Formats: sequence, structure tokens, C-alpha cells
Amino acid sequence: MTETISIRWHSRAGQGAITASTALAEILGRHGKFVQSFPDFGAEKRGAPVVVFNRIGNERIDDVSHPAVIDAAVLLDPSLLASCEVNTHELLAGLKENGLLLINSPQKKLKMEVGTAQVFALAASAIAVAEIGKDIPNVPILGALVRILELAPMEKFKRDLAQSLGAHLPAEIVAGNLRAFERGFAEVTTITGKPGHKKIVCAKLPGWRDMPLGAAIQNPGSSRHYATGNWSHQTCEWTKSTCINCQLCWPVCPHDAIIVKDGKMLGVDTTKCTACGLCVVACPTRPKSLKIISKQSSEI
Ligand code: SF4
Ligand code: SF4
Repeated sequence: MTETISIRWHSRAGQGAITASTALAEILGRHGKFVQSFPDFGAEKRGAPVVVFNRIGNERIDDVSHPAVIDAAVLLDPSLLASCEVNTHELLAGLKENGLLLINSPQKKLKMEVGTAQVFALAASAIAVAEIGKDIPNVPILGALVRILELAPMEKFKRDLAQSLGAHLPAEIVAGNLRAFERGFAEVTTITGKPGHKKIVCAKLPGWRDMPLGAAIQNPGSSRHYATGNWSHQTCEWTKSTCINCQLCWPVCPHDAIIVKDGKMLGVDTTKCTACGLCVVACPTRPKSLKIISKQSSEI
């Protein structure tokens, strides 16, 4: 590595971008690199868009601003683009000529315009579900990133990752994550785009900096007006046959996604559900009458 490299991660809260970015910085820092890892987000909750940055270099890094020029952009959740929470301009902003774009997707071809970016794809969500039983794609994507940026040999980085994860997680979760890392490293592939084929056109939505200070709710019942269902590539599924109509799920839902009418539980509004799982915890039936499921992936 001859110069400082900068990475920008686009993710949703809960997908582990901050954890992966921090682990990357800690591990390379242990081996003598100068590193930074810092996130940028507003009022936070699971599913909300998050941006995280890394800088990695061989010399002291004094710049602590957001990198204006980046070597790699990472997209942990393509639904951010499909739902216009991140537009293509933001995703590619500052990416160097022939810079790297790494996306969590099983796609073999992109439909979006990528300019001169070299595009890499990994079915990281599928790997995460297979290896750790949850759609948390951060570690397989980290494996892919370490490989495409040639940051470290796989076995060496894996040993360090085992040490980092082992400090916080049970042994079987660490083992699953190490398999996911290894698969991410091995399975990442280059894919092609179709320049000019499709541009994702987004209406200008207010960002968190445009919201009232202190997240003050100026009009009551405001959650009814927001289609928060696109905050996640998971959603909640209701099973009518086991439901006892206790409605314990209704008061815990932060997005008004539980549909109750005339005293009857009627289901889940998937245009609002962010798959936070609170209703699943509250549901008393065995088996649960609510469960979190994956949605169809969003092609970009
Ligand atoms: S998982 Fe349940 S509580 Fe959470 S948003 Fe969806 S319906 Fe509401
Ligand atoms: S908490 Fe479970 S059993 Fe009770 S109404 Fe909701 S889905 Fe039905």
C-alpha cells in the first residue's frame, strides 16, 4: 500500500457496517497501519441508512473529515438504492477513476450506470444466512473487501478476526462468522454494468440534517405518513391460524405496522414494517404467530 486509501460503506443500521469497519481498522492497526473508522448517521434505529468511513495508510493520518475522494464504495443493502434512500450519485460520489464498487448482491450484471468503477459482487446476505443464521452481511462483505483491496492474506486476517470477534461473541457465532469471512474472500466476483441502461431517478427527500432539531414531532401520528417498509430487506409475516388475537403485538410496533380493525388483528402492513422484531418478541403463541422473513432482493 503506497498511499492512504479511503473506503465508504453504505448500510442500514443493524447490518453491521460499523462493526466491520471497526474490526478492519483495529486489525490493520495492530499490524502497524495508521487507521480510522467513523460513522455518520442521524437519529438512529434499526433499518435507517448509515454511512461509515475508513482511512488506512502507512503514515500518520491527520485529516478527520469525511473523505472527499474514495478508493472503494461498499453497498451492504441494494434496497437503499431501489428505495432512493441513497441515490447512485451519492453511492459513486468521490470514487476515484477505476475505483472499486462492492455490492451485496447475487446479480451477475448491474443495470445501473457506474462510470469507470470496477464492480464486484458477493451474495453476502445468502452467505450470512447460511453460516450464522441471520441476514447480517457485514463479515462476508469484509472478506470480499480485504481481498479486492489486497489488504491482507486471508488466513492471517481470519486469525485476527477470530480474536476480535471472540472478545464479544460466543464461540459458535465466531466460527460461523469466520466461515462467512472465508466465503466472502473466496466467492467475490467481478461483474459488469450496462452503462446508460438505467438511471435510478430519485425525488429529493429531506435528509436527517433537514429534520427539526431534537427530532421534535410537530404533528401527532406522523408514523402513519411514512412508508418505512423499505428500510429493510426483511419484513414480518403473520400466521392467522395460530394467532389468538391478544393484540400484544400492536402497542410495541414503532411503525404502526400492525393492522387492527374493529378489535381484530388483521395482519402486518409490509409498507411500514422495518422487521425490528419487537412484535415477534411480544407474541405469546408457540409457535410464534409473527416471524421475520426475507423479502425478494432488490436488483440494481
Ligand atoms: S417487526 Fe413487528 S414491531 Fe417491528 S415494525 Fe414490523 S410489525 Fe412492527
Ligand atoms: S401478539 Fe401474536 S397472538 Fe397476539 S395478536 Fe399479535 S400475532 Fe396474534
